[in-house]
Parts: sequence; structure tokens; C-alpha cells
Amino acid sequence: MPAGIASMRSMYQKNVKLLRCTLSTTIGATDHITSELNKLSMRGKYNGGDQIHTASGSGMDISYIGQSVLHTPDRNLLLNNVLHVPQAKRNLVSVHHFTTDNNAYLEFLPSHFFVKVQETKKTILKGGCQGGLYPFPSSVSASSRKYVYSAIRPSVERWHHRLGHPSISVIRQVVSSNNLPCESNKSSLESVCDACQQAKSHQLPYPKSSSVSSVPLELVFSDVWGPAPDSVGRKKYYVSFIDDFSKFTWLYLIKHKSEVFQKFQEFQTLVEHTFDRKIIAMQTDWGGEYE
Ligand SMILES: [Zn+2]
Repeated sequence: MPAGIASMRSMYQKNVKLLRCTLSTTIGATDHITSELNKLSMRGKYNGGDQIHTASGSGMDISYIGQSVLHTPDRNLLLNNVLHVPQAKRNLVSVHHFTTDNNAYLEFLPSHFFVKVQETKKTILKGGCQGGLYPFPSSVSASSRKYVYSAIRPSVERWHHRLGHPSISVIRQVVSSNNLPCESNKSSLESVCDACQQAKSHQLPYPKSSSVSSVPLELVFSDVWGPAPDSVGRKKYYVSFIDDFSKFTWLYLIKHKSEVFQKFQEFQTLVEHTFDRKIIAMQTDWGGEYE
């Protein structure tokens, strides 16, 4: 269709001469027609069983029914219930449905037509006449790349979200190979995506602990750290024990991690004797030192 979605007959009645719905005898039929499926932004299979009949009487099947949008500088014009008829030679617009759905009216002159807003009478679209047909200017035709072009240039971040959180190099490739609008400012390249961070983390954050020890040795934290630069005694590691109740801390320097359990036993003897009570619980980071 050279001139976009819609070559338009000056009056709906003229369309009726050319096309007649078998089922609908009234003008209120579903009656925008296109042969180009990519003109329909939202579509579904047509199950009505009707056909479009040409003046010669041959029937053309309807495959899909959907919606299309014509973009004009002022506003978008809706084409509801567009029938996808693969055999159709032209894309046709029903003036009746077009004006009803868009709160607009059309003025036809021998060489021009205007689409105007009903309330304000403002002209929102102007087109010419070709061979008795009034084609919509191709610059406002429904694009097969709907929703991609917009008045604002989406940021890299937004493309990252839209495309399912790919890496920056994938976004660049998609944007450049499809010639998509993209705002490239440095801050958006450096921003951190919350969803990606959460997806990469191995487990959810721990809830804040509300447990409080009421006596010494009720809970003791232990951790092993190293290898560190050799200490004076050539010790490379240390193991720490922190009492949750008092926050007293014991530190043992060791040469090898294998000494941890021995140091724990020393610590246990010392504190259980000092406080005259048993260690009730130990908490470690499962580093393997006590296995
Ligand atoms: Zn992400």
C-alpha cells in the first residue's frame, strides 16, 4: 500500500459500492480493511466467518481483526476493528467509524481533505486526492514499528529493563542494529540495577536479629581469619571468640587452621571455669573450621 494504511473513499457509501459485508447490511459494520498484518498493533484471530465481497462478487477471507493507530503531530488517531484481508488490494478506512472513534470530522474538497477536531474545528491532518481516492499522507501511516519511536529518547537503563535486563554490550548492539532512539548519558551507564543485583545474590538478606543473650556464654560467636602477614611468632591466622552477652573478645593466634579446634577447647575450659557456667551455643559462618 503505497500511501500507508489507508486510502480513503470520500464517503463511506462509495466503499459500499466496492465492498459489501455479507453479514452486515448496515453501515455500522466492522469495516476498516487492510491487507498488511503489520499495520495492526493489537490483533486477534477473526472467527466471525464473514467474507468481504468485491464488486465482482468474489469473496475474500478475513484473517485477523485488530487495532491500528495513525500518528499525527497533535494526537494519535485510532482505527478500531480493522479487518485484515490478505487479498485486499487497498487499505480502506470507514469514514463513519473513523469520525466516531476519534471525535473528528472530515472535509472533502476536490483536491484535498481535512481531518478536524469536532469541538475545536482544528485541522489535525491534511491530505490530497489521487485518482478519486483520498490517501492518508504516508508520514502519518501506522508504522510496523509501533511503540518503538516516541517523543522522548529512552535511557540505557530503560532499554535494560525493557529488554529483560541484558548486559550493556547487548543493549548497545540491539539499539544500534535496530536504529532505536537511546539517550546516552554517562550516569545511566554507571547506575546499578536493583533487580540484577538481587538476581545475582545467592540468598536474600537476613532479617534483623532481635535475639538478646541474658547471661554470659549463652551465645558465643567464633570466626577464623587469615592468612595474614606472619606475626612475630610466625602465626598466620587468628581465631576469635566473642561473648554475645558481655561482648568480651578472646583472640588466639595460630599457625595453621587445623589448630582451631584445639584453641576452642582451650577457650572453652578457660571461660567455663571463669564464669562457672557452660557455653550454650556457638555461632560461626560455616567456614569449615569446626567440621
Ligand atoms: Zn537489571
